Amino acid sequence: METKETKQASSNFIRTIVIEDLNEGRTDRIVTRFPPEPNGYLHIGHAKSICLNFELADEFNGRTNLRFDDTNPMKEDTEYVEAIKEDVTWLGFQWDGMHFASDYFDELYDRAVLLIRKGKAYVCDLTQDQIRATRGTLTEPGQESPYRNRSAEENLDLFQRMRQGEFKDGEKVLRAKIDMASPNINMRDPVLYRISHTAHHRTGDKWCIYPMYDFAHPLSDAIEGVTHSLCTLEFEDHRPLYDWAIRECEMEAQPRQYEFARLNMTNTVMSKRKLKQLVDEKIVDGWDDPRMPTISGLRRRGFTPEAIRNFAREIGVSKSNSIVDDRMLEHFIREDLKMKAPRTMAVLNPLKLVIMNYPEGQTEWLDAENNSENPEMGSRQIPFSRVIYIEQDDFMEKPPSKYFRLFPGNEVRLKNAYFIKCVDVVKDDSGQVLEIRCTYDPETKSGTGFTGRKVKGTIHWVEATHAIAAEFRLFEPLLLTDESEDEKSFLENINPRSIEILQGFVEPNMKDAQAQDKFQFFRHGYFNVDPKLTAKDKIVFNQIVSLKSSYDVVQKA
Ligand code: ATP
Ligand code: MG
Repeated sequence: METKETKQASSNFIRTIVIEDLNEGRTDRIVTRFPPEPNGYLHIGHAKSICLNFELADEFNGRTNLRFDDTNPMKEDTEYVEAIKEDVTWLGFQWDGMHFASDYFDELYDRAVLLIRKGKAYVCDLTQDQIRATRGTLTEPGQESPYRNRSAEENLDLFQRMRQGEFKDGEKVLRAKIDMASPNINMRDPVLYRISHTAHHRTGDKWCIYPMYDFAHPLSDAIEGVTHSLCTLEFEDHRPLYDWAIRECEMEAQPRQYEFARLNMTNTVMSKRKLKQLVDEKIVDGWDDPRMPTISGLRRRGFTPEAIRNFAREIGVSKSNSIVDDRMLEHFIREDLKMKAPRTMAVLNPLKLVIMNYPEGQTEWLDAENNSENPEMGSRQIPFSRVIYIEQDDFMEKPPSKYFRLFPGNEVRLKNAYFIKCVDVVKDDSGQVLEIRCTYDPETKSGTGFTGRKVKGTIHWVEATHAIAAEFRLFEPLLLTDESEDEKSFLENINPRSIEILQGFVEPNMKDAQAQDKFQFFRHGYFNVDPKLTAKDKIVFNQIVSLKSSYDVVQKA
């Protein structure tokens, strides 16, 4: 069944701008784009940007392009291109055009030549360090490069020779000629092209000069007819350069850049460089490790596109940076799965329990509802017999007061079955509990309306002979702190308890469970069948979320 999605969350300043632009005729059809650099997998922060761009265009009958910002061949790879396409599609969005900044390399080159002809760009021989050292500071202007006043002819000749591969990496760059005294450091003759004798994942060896982001991005937007170019706040100071490039390169289309606050989340890093470090150093099991904030990690963990989209709408779009509590995301997956996921029983830490007065060799099949909040999901038959498994912590030999589960002499309800009473405990020489012995009362069968007496506790269980062995993976946040600029503290703050692996049992009906199927295990929360680790003879479940917020657990870690 479909879970209803929240509508577009309350409006935001970008949506207001779009409405004004449409009403005042500045555009009759908006075009947005999502421009990932294929140097890593997408994360939940990207999901915010994806939802914003696609949903805005959808709402106003516009278009959204997927554009790979592939101007840095050293870090990019087709593996990432494929992963990004898969993730955007899985989130539920269909792009209109799929483009690569590298498709525009010829045009970008021609526009750079135009700048040189106009005296708006020059080839500079300073090294990267020298450029940085002469750029000035917030309070002091930069120094002009000694190469700044080369003639257009000389610049054209040198730029062409840069392209032809005559110079080594770093030997020369093409710089915009703007203003070394500008209060905005981005306008102090920024680099437009650099030399890199590196094969590109799409253009191969065709180019050995590559455009910088600040040059490629505005022009790519203009080439595609993007009307509203949405990016995160760090680019606010780059906007004058964005506008400069569009104007001086004489682009026909006039895209406008708008900045919004990036998503930051507690206990989460989102920098791709840091995520890649976690992968490369094998701190996690790949980009799709269920603890990763990547879209592929969240998918493998068991999050749904609906939950992520609802989360993105709820957090909204604003101009001020803030940190979203990671429990917000958990809230939306609980909401989404509440009515959708079948509810069954799983024992994660098994303890054997024998019902002494139940006939040996007999099995009966009991009716169990699949989702008590959604009767449409029907019911199933579960086996019951003399030997079952319960959770280790549902039994205590010497319980504290207010412990209503099983202890010697106490009676509890077995979910969907009978009342049982603990009559004996079998231990090994070291005192370890091996087996609990109980009696059951046939009068108390669930669903028969028994009202004779009440018990305070209900515990779950799985019948032993039909049970299916299963592995359960429980997670806590990978990090104990928020994203920090301090590089050392990032790896030091890895949560040593971020994963716990348990071997237990699930009901026999789970034999048909498929990768990515989602369940609510009674009292344990929501679980997803892991698509990577589940094999023919082994089923592995990832805990998506507990039934309630895990905040206390995290705080204690
Ligand atoms: P990183 O700096 O970690 O490499 P990035 O921002 O450079 O990340 P891109 O692939 O360039 O990654 O991002 C693609 C788009 O997603 C950009 O428009 C960027 O602004 C947006 N984006 C990236 N991270 C976030 C975030 N945390 N919240 C919202 N939008 C984001
Ligand atoms: Mg980027």
